[in-house]
This record gives sequence, C-alpha cells and structure tokens, in this order.
Amino acid sequence: MPRPIALKISVAAMAHNLAIMRQRLDEVSQTLNRDSPKIWAVIKANAYGHGIEAAVSGFAQADGLAMLDLHEAMLCRQLGWTKPILLLEGFFGSADLQVIDEQQLAVVVHSFEQLAQLAHFQPRQPVPIYLKINTGMNRLGFALEELEQAWSLIQALMEQELVHFLGSMTHFACADEPSPTTVEQIQLFRQYNPAPDYPFSVCNSAAALRTELQSYLGTQPQWVRLGICLYGATPFVDLTAEDFDLRPAQTLEAEILSIQQVKPGQGVGYGHLFTAEQPMRIGVVSCGYADGYPRQAPNGTPIIVAGQRTQVVGCISMDLLTVDLTNIPQAQVGSPVILWGHAQLSVNEVAEYSGTIGYELLSTVTQRVPRYQDNT
Ligand SMILES: *Cc1c(COP(=O)(O)O)cnc(C)c1O
Repeated sequence: MPRPIALKISVAAMAHNLAIMRQRLDEVSQTLNRDSPKIWAVIKANAYGHGIEAAVSGFAQADGLAMLDLHEAMLCRQLGWTKPILLLEGFFGSADLQVIDEQQLAVVVHSFEQLAQLAHFQPRQPVPIYLKINTGMNRLGFALEELEQAWSLIQALMEQELVHFLGSMTHFACADEPSPTTVEQIQLFRQYNPAPDYPFSVCNSAAALRTELQSYLGTQPQWVRLGICLYGATPFVDLTAEDFDLRPAQTLEAEILSIQQVKPGQGVGYGHLFTAEQPMRIGVVSCGYADGYPRQAPNGTPIIVAGQRTQVVGCISMDLLTVDLTNIPQAQVGSPVILWGHAQLSVNEVAEYSGTIGYELLSTVTQRVPRYQDNT
C-alpha cells in the first residue's frame, strides 16, 4: 500500500476560477466603457504546485500562459498549447533565444543586457517582447530614468525586425493591501510609459480583484497576469476565496495512522511541545514537513479530521503530525484528514498560523506526495 497521503488537483476548480475572474473583469470593464482585459494565467513554479498539465487543461480559456522556466514553456507547447506564452523574467542568457524563437515564446525585457543579446540574435521571426518598467517594486525592470534609452534601443530592434513590441508592463509591491503605493505606481507607469499607445500589463491577482483600482488604469487594452486567484486562494489576509466565489484547486489529504490515549501531564511528540491538561485522544496523521506541511505550524493550527475541524497539537515531525481527536469520537485509524484546500479550511488560514502565505504552501508540497489530477 502506498503511504496514505495525496495532493488532489481539481482542473474544474481552476477553470471555474478563471471564468469567475473573466466575468469580474468583464463587468468592471463594461462600467468603465473599455475592452475587457486579456488574461495571462500565471503558471510559474509548476503552476503554483498544481502541475503544468493540469494548468494547460484548467486554463484552456486563458488568452496566454505566463511562467519563468523555459522547460515549463516547452512542456506547454508539447501539451498542445498554441496560444501566447510569456516568460516573465525573459531569458537568462543568449542560448535561451534559440528555443524562444523555435517555440514562439514572448519575453519580458528588464535589462540592457537582454537588449544587447537581442541585438545579436537573428530570429526566424521577430521576438515578441514586453518592456518591464520599475515603478517602485525595485526588483526587476528599467528605472524611470533609463526608459528613454531603453525605448530607443527597442525601436531600433523593431526597425531591424528583431523584436515585435507587445507593450509595457510593471509589477505592484503592495496591491494586496489598501496602500496608496499601488495608485502611485500606476500614476508613475502612465506618466513614464514610453509606449502609451500599446497594450499594457500591470495587474496581478490582487490588483485585478480590487476593482476600484481599475479606474486609474485608463482605457488602453490591457493584459492582466493572474496567479493565486486562479488556484482558488486570495492574496489578501482579510478577504477569503469564498468572498470572491473562488474554489480551492488543491487539497492536501492524509489519514489517521494511529491513536494514542494521553493522560494529564503527558507530553506529545518531539520536545513535548504540547502537554495534555486533561485526558486526550491524540491522532497521528500521515503527513509531515517532508511533505511540505510547515514545520513551524503551532499548537492550534486548524485541520479537518473525519469531516470535523480540530487542531494540530505538538511538534510537526518529518513524516507525521499529531492532532486532537478528543471531541471527534467517530475518528478512527484510517479516518480521512484534510490539511488544506477545503471550503472549511483554506490554505491561507493554515499559512497564517505558520507566519507564511498560501502561495508558499501551495507551491512547496514535495515530490514524494503523489498527485491525483481530477479532470471532471
Ligand atoms: C507571480 C507573478 C504574477 C502573479 O501574481 P499573483 O499574485 O499570484 O496573481 C504576476 N506578475 C508577475 C511578474 C509575477 O511574477
């Protein structure tokens, strides 16, 4: 028997989330009298842990797929994806350009080094590029004072038919909170964008979900870049997936392997991080930090056993963790356990207990956990 642990991936939930986002963006665009944005489904990091194959099916209605890794891009083409593909960090060396040209990939250009490499490459057809502008994230992108020079280099590349210019983009630092920074970034983007007549791409999930930001963006065609919301989690701490009718696309499941009766004063697990104050029934679950469950999850982290919410008690081990079954008398050896990804237990809730975010938990379930893709 395989160890009872599984990562269940719902392709239907992914398709549902995309449709919900499309509808939401259509509605706000109608009120603003502009065309609906096109959607890049962001599938970096193995589609946030859901698998590239699931993403190619689940996001079949997206206008394009965006990721970082050239091999993930090639896999999408092998799986039959013929629509646009965007490499969000562009290329990491001129050797990549050969594949980019063959597979017809679009690339983000964020540095003069990349522009120099494009100038020395003879593509079969002009390479589609986005110009990435640093409006305050201070990670990737041309500084505002570099834009004039970058744009004149790009125009030269366009004249030589080495590149095909798609438009400008930027990335927000604080879109998941009601911070004035996002509006400031939008204003800088619009003020400094050297190619205002082209489509642009600025919104991640948070900015797309916060419809009040859309009115600052103007009516030029845009492409949004949606990641976390398409997997059924929100980027916000105070708003849940349910608030937006998003459904979790990933459920981490395990089982009760053993049950211990613990007496008052007895400790549980490594370091006896939990001590029983009254007689307790402790369930031992077939999931640990080597599966991607956060080792720092404290006593009290919510978990579902036999359909009922209860809590983690004691230290998370490499292969096991322990839960309180005192109030779940129907739980037995073999009872199902849900670690996250359920209407009653979001990945964000679990993440928050451990001082991290849903993004990290979704994308770091480890290789040894078997994945089951539900295509229905
Ligand atoms: C990851 C990423 C996104 C998607 O972000 P979400 O918060 O998951 O929607 C968008 N744009 C860029 C450049 C990214 O790296």
